[in-house]
Amino acid sequence: MNDLSGLPNLKHYRLVMGICILLMVLGVVLVYFEEDQLSPAFYIHVAVVTIITGLIWIYPKWHNSFIQYSLNIMIAAYFYLMFIIYPFTMSTLLLICFIPGVAFLFFNKRLFYWTLYGNIVMVLSFMLYVLFVDRGTTFHLLYADIFGYAINFFASQAILLFIHLLLQKRIENQKLYYKQIQEDARLKTTGQLAAAVAHEIRNPITVVQGFLQFYSDDQPLEKKKHYELMLEELNTAEKVISDFLSLAKPSETGTEIVNVKEALHNVMDLINTYALMDTIQVRLDVVDDCDVSCSLLEFKQLFVNIFKNAIEASKHGDSIEVKVEKEDNLVHITVSDHGVGMTDEQLQAIGTPFYSLKSKGTGLGMMICFNIVKKYGGSIFFQSKEGIGTDVTVSFPIIK
Ligand code: ADP
Ligand code: MG
Repeated sequence: MNDLSGLPNLKHYRLVMGICILLMVLGVVLVYFEEDQLSPAFYIHVAVVTIITGLIWIYPKWHNSFIQYSLNIMIAAYFYLMFIIYPFTMSTLLLICFIPGVAFLFFNKRLFYWTLYGNIVMVLSFMLYVLFVDRGTTFHLLYADIFGYAINFFASQAILLFIHLLLQKRIENQKLYYKQIQEDARLKTTGQLAAAVAHEIRNPITVVQGFLQFYSDDQPLEKKKHYELMLEELNTAEKVISDFLSLAKPSETGTEIVNVKEALHNVMDLINTYALMDTIQVRLDVVDDCDVSCSLLEFKQLFVNIFKNAIEASKHGDSIEVKVEKEDNLVHITVSDHGVGMTDEQLQAIGTPFYSLKSKGTGLGMMICFNIVKKYGGSIFFQSKEGIGTDVTVSFPIIK
């Protein structure tokens, strides 16, 4: 509930909760002046109000789920207590109807369902008790129209469930939208960065290339070989830059039909020497084979990056599993390692240019992967637990 730490929300929270606390205290004062002799129930009433006030007060500071659950339980206890110790005030049943609504305050889905089920079970048991055991001795108002109250109660719970489902849908849509905005911003910076770096490096290389070519003709045969080698190396450097630049511009590399199993075998042949240095075993399990439409070069680049990270995260003797499965019109390729894993914050940062926790890392591998996957209408999903391992799932549309 980080939203509460923002000042405007915190202000609203304090205002609404201040009113609630005031009403609870007024309730206590009213009972105090109405009753001739204060019963033990009154002291329980005071204790519950005090605990709720304390929890409401500390919640903005320690907004964890323990306080959320405690607050919800205490509020439920308070409303039930009101209903049981003051059976002539039937309006407290209205408050009981609202108990699951408290979870709306915390945007806590699980808490909502727990309180909804709990509330239904409690009220149902209570009504059965009144109907068959109490038979209107203490709760004669409830007994007089018990079926009417029961119908109204269930209707109120159904309305709360409906509001909850609507809210949940909106929250999920907003989360998705926020994630997309983040992703777009990330890709935009990546593109601009790639273009700027590539341009800056390409110019001096072209100058050096030109001069080398110019002088190489006047050299004796032996020295000419050195010049050729230098030129070749510069050509390679230029190619790397062009590849990098392709991140910024729409690619000219054409798409082709890529067989997933074959391409993954190719990548594994490439990567195996690297893995074997650390005696890490890479196992491939193809449940469903299929074809996808993308550039083979980029497909390989994508998985080389993912495999390299998995190997670098693994310990000596660990294994890495690769699984290929079909679902509807998608193929899911999951690379699972049992390495160091990542925390939630690290997972959030993955794919950001130059984000790396390795001493010799560039922090560009995952960014390139994100770009490749996006280009071919696929998606990439990370699941990780610190100290346990990471699953990277790449999904691509299948060619029918
Ligand atoms: P680099 O490998 O050069 O550090 P990447 O973009 O490939 O850059 O990865 C960024 C960071 O994400 C890595 O430094 C590492 O901390 C984390 N990471 C990526 N894959 C894994 C993985 N399979 N297990 C644990 N951490 C990973
Ligand atoms: Mg990497």
